[in-house]
Formats: sequence, structure tokens, C-alpha cells
Amino acid sequence: MLGAIAGDIIGSRFEGHSTPPAGFDLFHRDCRFTDDTVCTLAVAEALMTGQGVAPTLRAFVRRYPDAGYGAMFLRWAFSDDAPAYGSWGNGAPMRVASIGWWAATEAEALELAAKQAAVSHDHPDAIAAAQAVALAILQLRQGAARAALRDRLSTQFGYDLRSQTALRRGGFDISASGTVPPALAAAFDAADWEGAVRTAVCLGGDTDTLACITGAVAEAIHAVPGPIADQVRARLTGDLRSVLDRFEQARAKLR
Ligand SMILES: [Mg+2]
Repeated sequence: MLGAIAGDIIGSRFEGHSTPPAGFDLFHRDCRFTDDTVCTLAVAEALMTGQGVAPTLRAFVRRYPDAGYGAMFLRWAFSDDAPAYGSWGNGAPMRVASIGWWAATEAEALELAAKQAAVSHDHPDAIAAAQAVALAILQLRQGAARAALRDRLSTQFGYDLRSQTALRRGGFDISASGTVPPALAAAFDAADWEGAVRTAVCLGGDTDTLACITGAVAEAIHAVPGPIADQVRARLTGDLRSVLDRFEQARAKLR
């Protein structure tokens, strides 16, 4: 899950840029965690406590109200009982990483991914995109071969994951179904974690969310390099770092 947070922080300073420069510094004083990190950690907390995704997301958003949420999500989060609002945006796949590490089986990953999406982003495309990311992480950490998994995700979710098409689109498409294919292709193509995230950021547009999803999936292939993990931890608040630490401890016990 740290890979998702790392991608968010690295991509944060280029959000809305059309052509981030290749060879950019990974960590810069403008790098910060955004809504992707807060929501990712909220879902992880909900898994650990069993207290429900919606109330946990709301509590985290209210604690960090300025992290860059979409307007509709913010309205949902500040209401105590607003229903899901049919969103097809990339908010559902951007916060799903913990489920790929938590679930023991494909069925559990698919069910938990759908459930966490549906509290706010209940459009079928958003639910499917969250499921695709959780399934990719689960399968990769369990040792699935990348090429076979890529084919399977293409078929199961109807995504074009060929590099030449998935990576040709810029990153300004904030739909779930427009964000996940390039993010997956960047992760599948790369020789290492850093290369995956650099490819995602250089697509431009919604760079923090692209890099968050790519970083989450690439972590299941390559792990996040130690020096990058240290930079990430240093940029979290104490209470967000504690969610990450507790999640990693809980995961270690599950193994
Ligand atoms: Mg963000």
C-alpha cells in the first residue's frame, strides 16, 4: 500500500501539467500527500477496524479537508448520510490498494473492492476499475506472471492494456475506466518501481492519481525501494503514518 502513497506524493506537484519533464526529481519541497493518500489510508483503517468504509472515509476527510478532493466527494463526506452519487470518477480505484494486500482470495478482493467503491462511486465503471486494481495487486503479490495477468485483465474488464494504446492517452481523463488502463500499463511495462511511476507521471494530467494507482500495482511486482519509502514516511503526519504502520503490522500477522 505504501506504493500508492508514494506515487501520490511524487505525482502531486505535477497535477494538471500536460508534460511533466522526464528526469524530474522524485522528491521536491512541493511534494505532498493528497486526497489519494488520505482515502487510501481510510480504506485500510476500515479494513482493520471493521467499522465501515463510509464512516471511516468521512472521518478521515473531515480530519484532512484540504487534501484536494473533488467537489461532489467533499459534499458526500461532509454529509452524515448522503448516498452514493453515481460517480464514474477515478476516486474508487485510487483508494483501493490496501484491499489487494488484505484479501486472501480473488473473490474476497473483488467483493471488498466493490464494496469500498460503492459507498460513493457506485457507477459500474468505477466499481469495475477498483476491482481490476485490487485483483492486479492480489495476483501479482501472489506471483502471477505479468503477461498472463495483463491478458486476463484485458478480457475480464474490457481494457485495452497494450502499451502503444494505453500509454498514448494523456492523463487528463479522470474517469475510472480512462485512468486505470494507462496506470496498469505503466506498472506492467516497467523494469523497476521508480520507472513505473515516472512513466505514469509523465502522462500528465491527473498525475497524482495515475502515479498512485501505478505505484500501488508496481509495488506488488517490485516493492518500493527503501530510500523512497523513507521519503514517503517523512511526508506523512503522525496519525497517517500510524495507519500505515498498523496496516503493515496487521498484514505481517496475516501472512
Ligand atoms: Mg489527489
